[in-house]
Amino acid sequence: MRIAVIDQDRCQPKKCSLECVKFCPGVRIGDETVVFEEGKTKPTISEELCTGCGICVKKCPFNAISIIGLPDELEHDLIHQYGENGFRFFRLPYPRENAVNGLIGPNGIGKTTVIKILSGEIKPNLGRYEEESDLLEYFSGTQFYDYFTDLYNGEIKAVYKPQYVDQLPKTAKGSVKKLLEKTDEEGKLDKVVNDLELQESLDNDISEVSGGELQRIAIAATILKEGDIYVFDEPSSYLDVKQRLNVGKIIRNLSNEKRVLVVEHDLVLLDYLTDYVTIMYGKSGAYGVVSHPRTVREGINTYLIGYLKEENIRFRKTPLKFEVRPPTKGWSAEELIEFEDLEKSYNGFSLKVKRGDIFKGEVVGILGPNAIGKTTFVKMLAGVIKPDKGKVDSDLTVSYKPQYIKPEFEGTVSEALAKTVDAFGSKLFDKEIGRPLELEYIYPMPLQDLSGGELQRVSIAMCLGQEADIYLLDEPSAYLDVEQRLNLAKVIRRSIENKGSAGIVVDHDILFTDHIADRLMVFQGEPGVKGESTSTLSMEDGMNRFLKGVGVTFRRDPETGRPRVNKLGSRKDKEQKEKDKYYYLTF
Ligand code: ADP
Ligand code: ADP
Ligand code: SF4
Ligand code: SF4
Repeated sequence: MRIAVIDQDRCQPKKCSLECVKFCPGVRIGDETVVFEEGKTKPTISEELCTGCGICVKKCPFNAISIIGLPDELEHDLIHQYGENGFRFFRLPYPRENAVNGLIGPNGIGKTTVIKILSGEIKPNLGRYEEESDLLEYFSGTQFYDYFTDLYNGEIKAVYKPQYVDQLPKTAKGSVKKLLEKTDEEGKLDKVVNDLELQESLDNDISEVSGGELQRIAIAATILKEGDIYVFDEPSSYLDVKQRLNVGKIIRNLSNEKRVLVVEHDLVLLDYLTDYVTIMYGKSGAYGVVSHPRTVREGINTYLIGYLKEENIRFRKTPLKFEVRPPTKGWSAEELIEFEDLEKSYNGFSLKVKRGDIFKGEVVGILGPNAIGKTTFVKMLAGVIKPDKGKVDSDLTVSYKPQYIKPEFEGTVSEALAKTVDAFGSKLFDKEIGRPLELEYIYPMPLQDLSGGELQRVSIAMCLGQEADIYLLDEPSAYLDVEQRLNLAKVIRRSIENKGSAGIVVDHDILFTDHIADRLMVFQGEPGVKGESTSTLSMEDGMNRFLKGVGVTFRRDPETGRPRVNKLGSRKDKEQKEKDKYYYLTF
């Protein structure tokens, strides 16, 4: 079976020379292999006539075409297709009762579509996008028959937390309390507000709250509704580690009585949260295949290794590994900056930072909750804010990527980059940033139309592309998938090393931080009131300090090296706590 997919966002017939039509050998001999049908602005490729030569794929300047040969047996498993030459996916994961079912896969592989189908928002068309399909007949004799019968009859009610919580204030208006009261179908408001620590946000207007609050409000609104299947699309974004684990616990509890389905790219949270994991593989934007469910450890390891043993399918060339780096004993590089004990107070907030230093070429990870003084600290390093006490010995410039990104610029990605990055268009920028962040094909797209993950990568490129001594990146992992996160860690490390500057990365994905940081600073205290930071610590000391504050211990998975949370009160948890080893650098 051969499929031809055209990415409708990338395809720009007004900006290309219609290479797909011009160079197709089928068209040249007079066949209608690639045509512009009447009334359509984008080309159509005939899957019957296409021979799969791949010329159009190479010639299209916007990389909009995928021509892919698939095993014939998939043909009967086609669940949904977004129109002619549209994205399609095969098979469905069955959400087990009284369990948390996780979905893992790269961006653009169909996870959100699967979720929408299982919650009844999209009716699968089985590839027959022009006519009504008989879904129940297709599923007869399978467990999906009962599931969809009940879903469409209203006997299974699905409740859904969408991925982009930033959009919430656009559709919902009023105070947080009013909004939550509206969704409180079982009188659980007080308990849920308490569990999610939302007491102080209740009187605020939804338009004023932070991203982390929006995420918890969206989760609260979902849990408050009465339902049979609860679906959470990326519940971790903008939450700090403690909040992530707390949300994990709340969602787990929910599964005692309900079905739960979760999409999550923070593998530590996914591991902590789910019972079963289903892997989706294929080609982003073109097609996705749902594998059979695995237990959580096996599922995540299989995903990282990239090989499905039972199906005998390799879906990634090389496994993703977490190398256990030796502690950096005595950094040999030159010092970039040294700071004394620092203090700074605003009205109602005070910060103390222990003396420390940062070396050239080093990435310092920062762990700690939101509103604890991390940005204030970096601004003191850059001389933007004067400390009340203590001195910073430097005259350094900082390039900053904020946690919340708004696409305010009206223009394309390349116009936005050209405006902010002098080196944009140079070979070096392309080699170090553009290509590894996979930006080339989104350059012609309007900034306003980008997905969350695309916008994130553009903002990171804007930050790294500028000349500076210190690069501060606040939550760069948000909306990126696992591979993009690990790839990003490489891009940041390489860029910082080559420039001889320093990176300060604030992120709440422990696995990402473990991968990117040479040393750590740990911020603790009371958010919005009082923050205290350690000096720059070794990874082991920093992680130990941080995890002790959170009250959890981590071990490493022997197969992949990835950090895993120990079950609270388990033998390992107790043992490690006794030894004061909250985090294992080695196995
Ligand atoms: P994921 O959640 O894994 O990122 P999605 O389910 O959001 O993936 O999307 C998978 C693919 O389906 C995307 O590449 C997108 O091109 C396509 N797609 C999603 N929604 C639509 C739609 N409404 N119309 C056409 N194509 C769509
Ligand atoms: P983080 O980067 O950890 O989120 P920040 O350093 O941005 O934290 O802020 C810490 C606290 O200081 C927050 O409560 C914030 O509201 C407050 N704050 C930050 N800048 C100012 C300022 N210029 N004036 C008054 N308060 C501020
Ligand atoms: Fe142009 Fe590529 Fe679209 Fe064909 S598929 S019209 S070559 S952008
Ligand atoms: Fe034409 Fe070859 Fe492209 Fe098929 S793969 S549409 S035959 S150029």
